[in-house]
Amino acid sequence: MDDEIIILGSGGGRHHIRTQKRATGGIIFKTNEFQAHIDPGPGAIVRINQYGEDPTKTDVFIVTHVHIDHFNDINVIIEASRNDFYDKDRNIIQKGTLITTSDTLQYVSNYHKNMLEKVVCFKAGDIYHYKNAIIIGTRVLHDPKVEGFGIRFELDGYSIAFSSDTMVFDGFSEQFSKLNILVLNLLRPDSITCKRHLCTDEVIPFLNKIEPPLDSLILTHFGSFMDGSRSSINNVPSQVQKLKENTIIKKIIPAEDGLKIKIDDLL
Ligand SMILES: [Zn+2]
Ligand SMILES: [Zn+2]
Repeated sequence: MDDEIIILGSGGGRHHIRTQKRATGGIIFKTNEFQAHIDPGPGAIVRINQYGEDPTKTDVFIVTHVHIDHFNDINVIIEASRNDFYDKDRNIIQKGTLITTSDTLQYVSNYHKNMLEKVVCFKAGDIYHYKNAIIIGTRVLHDPKVEGFGIRFELDGYSIAFSSDTMVFDGFSEQFSKLNILVLNLLRPDSITCKRHLCTDEVIPFLNKIEPPLDSLILTHFGSFMDGSRSSINNVPSQVQKLKENTIIKKIIPAEDGLKIKIDDLL
C-alpha cells in the first residue's frame, strides 16, 4: 500500500501564522484512489511546492472550520488543483469535492466554487461516501462562534482520523474507537490549559480510554507555548516522551514540516 500523509505544516495558531517558525499548510492525505488536502492554512501552496508534492492531484478539499490557520489558502488550492481550466468549448472544467462547514463557504469565492464538481456542507455526525472511503464527521469542542468537525476515514484495511482543533469532552474517546491512526492537534504542552485547545496532561486520560488502543498517534498543530514565541525551548520531544510513558499507544510520532509518513509504517 502506498497511502501516506504529508505534513505541510506542523504549526497552529496566530504566532505560527505570523512567524512561520512552524509552517501552517495543513496535511495532504494520499490514498490509491484520491488525494485530500486537509486545512490548507497560510502558505499551503508554498509548502506543496517546497516539499515536492503535486497540487494537481488533489481532488478532495477539506476545511474543518473557519479559522484562518485552517482555511486561508483554500481558494488557491482549488485553483492549483488543475492544469487545464477550460474544455474545448471554453466551459470551466469542474473537478474535486469540497467538504466544509456552512460558515466557511462564504470565504470560498463563487469563481472557485464553480471549479468544483461538488460542495458538501458537513458537520459532526455526518457520513459521506467518497470512492473507496467512508468519511465521518467527528465532534469538536472548540470555538462556540464557529462550526467545526474532525474527520475520520474508513478505508480498505485501516481507519485514520484527524481531530482538528478541539478540547476533550464526554464522548471524545468513544468516537475514536476501533481507530488505527489518530492525527491529534496538540497545541500546548503539559498542563498549560486553553479554553479552545488541548494540552498534553488533559488529553492523556482520554487517549487511554480509546478502545482498542490506537496503533499510532501523530501529534501536530503545535502552538507558541509548545514551540514558538511563548516557549523557551521546543517542548515537543518532552511531550512525546510523556505520552509514551503514560499511554500504551505503540507509535507516537511528532509532526515536522515536510514529514512524509507511509500508512504501512503506522499499522
Ligand atoms: Zn488551528
Ligand atoms: Zn481553530
